[in-house]
Amino acid sequence: MVYSQGWNGPSELVACHRRLSRHSWEELPEQVDEAFVLVAALIEESRRQRAGAYRVCRHCGRNASPEYLHDPDLCMGCAPGLLGIVY
Ligand SMILES: [Zn+2]
Repeated sequence: MVYSQGWNGPSELVACHRRLSRHSWEELPEQVDEAFVLVAALIEESRRQRAGAYRVCRHCGRNASPEYLHDPDLCMGCAPGLLGIVY
């Protein structure tokens, strides 16, 4: 799963994780160390995708998660002061 959240209304943040891949036990390598390599690669890919969704706010310079971005380059913390947005 790739961790993600979304807004269900103005104040309710809900989990909306995305499946990265699916493997049955039969598909996993029989050797435990090989299975761990596969699982570790999936975890790393999930981490990489989540980290890649963060954006730097053009105003405050903070790294913001996608659910806390007002625009692709403006965080929800800065939008009220700059744009007059009321959340
Ligand atoms: Zn900001």
